[in-house]
Amino acid sequence: MHNKSLSELSASLHNGEFSSVELTQHYLDRINAHNDNLNAFITVCDDRALEQARAADERLQQKTAGVLTGIPLAHKDIFCTKGVLTSSASKMLSNFISPYDATVVEKINAAGMVTLGKTNMDEFAMGSSNETSFFGAVKNPWDTSRVPGGSSGGSAAAMAARLAPIATGTDTGGSIRQPASLCNLTGLKPTYGRISRYGMIAFASSLDQAGPMANNAEDAAFLMNEMAGFDERDSTSIEHDVPDYTATLNDSLKGLRIGLPKEFFGEGLDPKVAETVEAAVKVYESLGASVKEITLPNSNLAVPTYYVVAPAECSSNLSRMDGVRFGHRCDDPKDLEDLYKRSRGEGFGNEVKRRIMTGTYALSAGYYDAYYLKAQQCRRLISDDFKQAFNDVDVIMGPTAPTTAFPLGDKTDDPVAMYLADIYTISTNLAGLPGMSIPAGFVEGLPVGLQIIGNFFEEAKLLNVAHRYQQETDWHQQTPDAFK
Ligand code: GLN
Repeated sequence: MHNKSLSELSASLHNGEFSSVELTQHYLDRINAHNDNLNAFITVCDDRALEQARAADERLQQKTAGVLTGIPLAHKDIFCTKGVLTSSASKMLSNFISPYDATVVEKINAAGMVTLGKTNMDEFAMGSSNETSFFGAVKNPWDTSRVPGGSSGGSAAAMAARLAPIATGTDTGGSIRQPASLCNLTGLKPTYGRISRYGMIAFASSLDQAGPMANNAEDAAFLMNEMAGFDERDSTSIEHDVPDYTATLNDSLKGLRIGLPKEFFGEGLDPKVAETVEAAVKVYESLGASVKEITLPNSNLAVPTYYVVAPAECSSNLSRMDGVRFGHRCDDPKDLEDLYKRSRGEGFGNEVKRRIMTGTYALSAGYYDAYYLKAQQCRRLISDDFKQAFNDVDVIMGPTAPTTAFPLGDKTDDPVAMYLADIYTISTNLAGLPGMSIPAGFVEGLPVGLQIIGNFFEEAKLLNVAHRYQQETDWHQQTPDAFK
């Protein structure tokens, strides 16, 4: 069952080959067998999942079921789920049972999908390896001595090990695409504003965006159909028609203009990853696409700009975690100041503290103009580069990450080395553009992702471009031996 696509699962559920309860139990058994080793889930919702599955089976019997009704999924633990622990992988929220559902969760529930559980992640989505989680590191199913990427590392590991048929993730600087690349998945970060952020625990509000992590582009399109859309509870969500993302998957790519930014193929890129990406681009040429070199001249500003903007926003967002209203509170505070200091001191991990301090510094009077204002100006330059590029090309391609999955512990003592894992993904978030990562091959047994970046609201185009490649190749169908 666990190697079927969503449309195959849907067909089996609709024609009665198996029930949602049977399918859900199958995945719960797999989680049970493998989660101790991988640490992909923080919470497994056994009873609740079976209850949702029973309700889905009723809808299937009454012929009121939609295409995703009865199909299980895993949610990153950043999405508020009513009545279920929602921790954002932080000690700070390790006792937070959300009283409401995020819009994404609400929509997916309404479609009749079954929540298997909540996946591990970097604490408050800050990290590229899933090693900053209060609940411990996640292992990459392709090689359990290596990281799955981050911050959506639990969703990625769960998917790669076939512990769920589809999962949600969020991407502030690469957290859907980079773990998708390291775990051989199809991950889509939509245009900023395409999916509601309501009930998604905020890291950096002007960059955060939710999206699907899937086994293939068609599956991602199915979940996008449920996730996308305007939400009046999120003032940054945009009113823009939601197409049927599955309708254009098979469109021809004849005449597609692909741009390869020379800055994405320079120093720091593993030459074997570069070769793999170049081979993937050749497949597009054989499908009738044209390829040209382009330039995104301000690419070198992306990482430093992001590491001012994101910490500045997180320092503001995380100020609500104060030990008063919800979350961790220290024992026996002497007075209010002691309560704040110790609750926050005990509740946050080192990477989160580093970001709060950097962000507070960048926003403080006297430094604001030099750092935050300057970063906003750089952000505009980065965004203008893309605007210019999309005058000549339809999509931009390159590597998702500079290397394959690195060993656990390899970069934990060197934050800057860790930050560079997102060198190719961050600029997309700064510009608000949609980006994808799709499986493009292997280097020494480890997956490599091809990144595809589109213009605003071109998710359907990206999914089409990804799907046509997946018709020609079978990289996306490869699974690690231990999890067949
Ligand atoms: N790795 C980046 C960071 O640590 C991006 C994280 C994300 O996209 N949530 O901030």
